[in-house]
Amino acid sequence: MNESQLNRYSRQLLLPNFDIEGQLNLSSKRALIVGVGGLGNIAATYLAGAGVGTLTLLDDDCIEESNLPRQVLFNESNVGESKAKAAKDLLNAKASDVTINAVESKLNEHNAEALVSEVDVVLDCTDNFKTRKLLHRACYKAKVPLVSGAAIRWEGQLITFRYDTDASPCYECLYPELSDQALSCNENGIMGPVVGAMGVMQSLDAVKLLSGKGEVAHGRLKIFDGFAGSWREMTLTQDPECALCALEKS
Ligand SMILES: [Zn+2]
Repeated sequence: MNESQLNRYSRQLLLPNFDIEGQLNLSSKRALIVGVGGLGNIAATYLAGAGVGTLTLLDDDCIEESNLPRQVLFNESNVGESKAKAAKDLLNAKASDVTINAVESKLNEHNAEALVSEVDVVLDCTDNFKTRKLLHRACYKAKVPLVSGAAIRWEGQLITFRYDTDASPCYECLYPELSDQALSCNENGIMGPVVGAMGVMQSLDAVKLLSGKGEVAHGRLKIFDGFAGSWREMTLTQDPECALCALEKS
């Protein structure tokens, strides 16, 4: 680590249970962020700030004016630009040590496995069940930990799957069927700070996983009610009928 890096990361390095080892681990690791919307904006900013080695940002959308209240990395001048590309440029300006790749594409059957197998952690910052399911299956298969976040209206959800160490329960134990009535922010609304809080929590789990410091539990579902200001937590249990993790076990 050079002089400037020692200075830049000094506040993290001061933490006795993080230290230089945590920082060096972080700087040698790669993270994939799927979706550069409200969750991905925040998570990517904190991961770049913390000094993760490589960040890959995947999104095929362009920035709209109605994104600006939540997607706080973007400026008014970015409206109309690609989210992945604009985020890469803005993060490069904040954290030139971090290698940032912008992939202007949707996650699909053809690219999911390759993208996931190249990284040490995946952040699910998507906004639809179809992509989530595809992403979770790819992480499950590649044994890559997955940090999932979601937010709608005043409510947020977080769950991390340590597919690197635990094969079950999995995401499909939680959501066995693809919901056709997937909630979308476009129709249901969203409170900006709620999605921001979820993105921050995702980045914290990712920092702990990549640095090897701190505890990250498998399959703990955390639900945040932003209107009431309260959290609920529950441990996911395996669905014995799960199409993914139950069948593979038998
Ligand atoms: Zn399962």
